[in-house]
Order: sequence, then C-alpha cells, then structure tokens
Amino acid sequence: MFIDTHCHLNFSAFKEDRDRIIKEALEKGMQIIMPSTQYSTSKRAVEIAERYSEGVYAGIGLHPIHVDARTVDVQEVESEEKEGQPWMTFDTRGEEFDYQVYKDLVASKKVVAVGECGLDYYYQPKGSQKRIEFQARQKAVFEQHINLSLEQDLPLIIHCRKAHDDLLEMLERYRGKVRGVVHCYTGSQEQALKFLDFGFYFGFNGLIFKKVLALPSPEEVIASLPLDRILLETDAPYLSPPQAHTERNEPLFVRYVAEEIARIKKLPVEEVSRVTTANARTLFALPS
Ligand SMILES: [Zn+2]
Repeated sequence: MFIDTHCHLNFSAFKEDRDRIIKEALEKGMQIIMPSTQYSTSKRAVEIAERYSEGVYAGIGLHPIHVDARTVDVQEVESEEKEGQPWMTFDTRGEEFDYQVYKDLVASKKVVAVGECGLDYYYQPKGSQKRIEFQARQKAVFEQHINLSLEQDLPLIIHCRKAHDDLLEMLERYRGKVRGVVHCYTGSQEQALKFLDFGFYFGFNGLIFKKVLALPSPEEVIASLPLDRILLETDAPYLSPPQAHTERNEPLFVRYVAEEIARIKKLPVEEVSRVTTANARTLFALPS
C-alpha cells in the first residue's frame, strides 16, 4: 500500500480519464494527495477530492512560477522527451495570491495541505532587475502561504528549485512552528541536514532515475536520510519512471520509486511502504 503524496490529477492531462485512474489507485489500496498550482486547479482538486468518501485529498496553493505571467519554453530548457505532449508546455499565470479565497477552500475537510508553494529560481525572467523583482514577489507569496498554513494548522507542500538557501533563510523565522515536506527534493546533502533540523520531510519521485538532471546525486541524499522523513510521490503527469514505459505518469507508478528507495537503503520494499505511509499519515493527519 502506498500513498502518492504529490500527483496532479487535477490537471488537464487527466481530463478524459481521471476518475478511472483514481478508482484504479484506490482499488489497489492507494491514497493520493493532489497539490495545486493556482486557484483554478486548487478549486478543482477540492471538488475532485470531495467526490470520494476517502483516500483522495487536496493541497491548495499558488506555485511560485505562476506569480509572474510569461510563456515558459519547456522545450528549450528540458529538450528531451517533450515532443507531442502538449501538457508538458505551459504559460505562467501571473496570478495574485488572494489569501481569503484560498482560505475559503480550506473549509473542505479534504484539504490536508497548503501547496504547492515555495521558490523557483529555475525559470527566471531575463534581466537582473526583473529577476530581483520576481524573487521578491515569490518570497512575498510564499510568506502568505506560510501564514495560511500556520493559521489553519496545515503542513506545507513546498516546491523549491535552485533556491534552497533562500528557502532555508525564510523558514528560519518560523522555526519550531512551520512543518511540511520539500517535494521533489533536489537540494544538497548539507541543505538536507538543515531541512531535517526543521523537522521537514522529503518527497522523492521519478526524478531520482534521471541522475544527470538531479544534482547532487539523489542516491547519496536518499541513503543519508532517515526513512521516517521520506515521502513517496509521482508528481504525475510529469516525471514518469522509465519502468512505466509511458510518458504520462500516474499514482500507480509510485511503486517504482518505492522499489528504488528500497534498493538504495537495502530494505524490503514492504518496509519502505509501511514507513512512508505512516509518515504521510502523520504529516497530513490522514485517517488510518
Ligand atoms: Zn507538483
């Protein structure tokens, strides 16, 4: 039994068959958490989760890359394996974070996290002044997510790319209060120790198979982290593990990530399943 703590079944990539995919996952004993990236997907995540009596949960938030309105050329920055997949390219939204409307969504019992939110310095606008403004706006929006998570007593699902030191600096002000997971962890081992010290969890997905893209070595980071701080995720529809032999990722493929973590940590996969499931239940206060 696995909990996919980060899958975007609320995205349009699953428009045609999301209920089938959710049903298949639930039938296999899985549970899923759908984080969101803007208001529309947040609302949709809540609506989807509300349709199921159990096992399907939502996170609500504004992804850092959507605080700005631009067209991000995914083809350009991640040239491999994107052709013929329209859901792999996107325009950023330039959405203002409206605290109250996001707060209203938390009224649903199915909302178990605030996120995904955080900092992303990977897709930056060109020009140093624009870059400074972009980073400042991301920080201001992330701060509001921290406030919402504290006010509502919900954990954060944090997205962080090329900004781990700034993220740690921001979290420092909330030490002892803030909790959550750094999903798709791509920081260094040294930074991982600092997040551990905050009591944070680490989410791993199919990116761990892309050893060239994920620096430093995910293998070393996973080996050094205690299993009771690790969460499994897919980040579906993205980052499909090679073993799945399909470009669109889905919750059931989370087992490949579990198997890889089991291999790295020299543990039976059942142990990885048991501990990571307990971790997710604890962090997100899921019913057992
Ligand atoms: Zn995500």
